[in-house]
Amino acid sequence: MVEELKKVFIEKFAATPILVKSPGRINLIGEHTDYNDGFVLPAAIDKYAYVAIQKREDKHINLFSVDFNEAQEATLPELTTEGKHWPVYILGVVDQLLKSNYALTGFNLVLCGDVPIGAGLSSSAAVECATIFALNELFNLGISKMEMVKMAQKAEHEFAGVKCGIMDQFASMFGKENNLIRLDCRSLQYEYFPFYVPGFQVVLMDTHVKHSLASSAYNERRAQCEKGVAIIQPFFPQVKSLRDVNLQMLQQYVFPVDELVYRRCKYVVEEIERTVNACTDLIKNDFISFGKKMFQTHEGLSNDYAVSCKELDFLIQQVKDNPAVLGARMMGGGFGGCTINLVKENEAEVLIEKVSKAYQKETCSALSAYKVTIQDGVSVIDNK
Ligand code: ADP
Ligand code: MG
Repeated sequence: MVEELKKVFIEKFAATPILVKSPGRINLIGEHTDYNDGFVLPAAIDKYAYVAIQKREDKHINLFSVDFNEAQEATLPELTTEGKHWPVYILGVVDQLLKSNYALTGFNLVLCGDVPIGAGLSSSAAVECATIFALNELFNLGISKMEMVKMAQKAEHEFAGVKCGIMDQFASMFGKENNLIRLDCRSLQYEYFPFYVPGFQVVLMDTHVKHSLASSAYNERRAQCEKGVAIIQPFFPQVKSLRDVNLQMLQQYVFPVDELVYRRCKYVVEEIERTVNACTDLIKNDFISFGKKMFQTHEGLSNDYAVSCKELDFLIQQVKDNPAVLGARMMGGGFGGCTINLVKENEAEVLIEKVSKAYQKETCSALSAYKVTIQDGVSVIDNK
């Protein structure tokens, strides 16, 4: 893929590019906790967005997407924000750099990638992080990784119009081979936890569905979490978010007022605690307990937080009592996308085949499965 990218760049622009790759991500535990100031436990995977880039003398920006076979032009400093197509993720990053007064000239950029799009693996964050890292290299801007993460996130907010948390860009930048990252979404402090489960591997099962409920339900859940906090605050003024709330407070103050909000908040409070405890499992090498927590997360997401869907629930049902599966849950915002499964290595193929058949029969559509490994975050590719 990199050789092909380089070839396309040289053909189009007759220059040798700087090459950068930035990965997609998984999240083991800690779902819908980021916007509640909680913890998440993501990792970068061996699927990447790749960018080839070189400077121009003028103010022109030439972009080309290999995967969409499409070109886009722009001229500094006027950048448009139309639509949600691939150029917005690149120009949104350029826009952030301009807003922070970094000196840029024009550039030529070619993009490709193998992060499945829209599957909940954050292909958009991979594109943003590859772009900002490449521009930082190209123009010697000296921006720290954490600063780049924040700018990439802002690019997604402002140009793509998606109010994402910080986890996706963070994992794409800070990923570390065979490690999970426990990120405190309140302080942005993070810690690496080695993640090597002997004889097991991570398998993603992609439903290929994205129900239209997804974005409205996301906003609604955010509002319900805020409502829970607002109910508790008069009694505990120090409570700023669900991070500061415990189950007893919910039971005493939220349950009598709004039972639905109670259930949404209960899931989040439990999930924040579960994520912390999952890290203790990792330290103890207790992967059975870790896997059980993944199943518990799914139950909470499905029953209390109500962001699953029948396709995701079906996939979890299929693996739940299988001794070859330590743990599994839906991953991402919900209403579609992937499940993440911890599967015995030498039984993975058989399981994938079995679940694929069942899924086809149940839903009349095909399942994709990806075996992924945990890798380093963004990097410049050695361009010999
Ligand atoms: P995801 O969950 O994968 O991040 P999004 O809808 O947030 O889904 O982002 C997907 C969008 O990111 C695509 O529609 C496309 O515009 C852009 N994108 C991702 N990967 C690529 C790629 N390899 N080439 C061009 N654009 C890409
Ligand atoms: Mg995205």
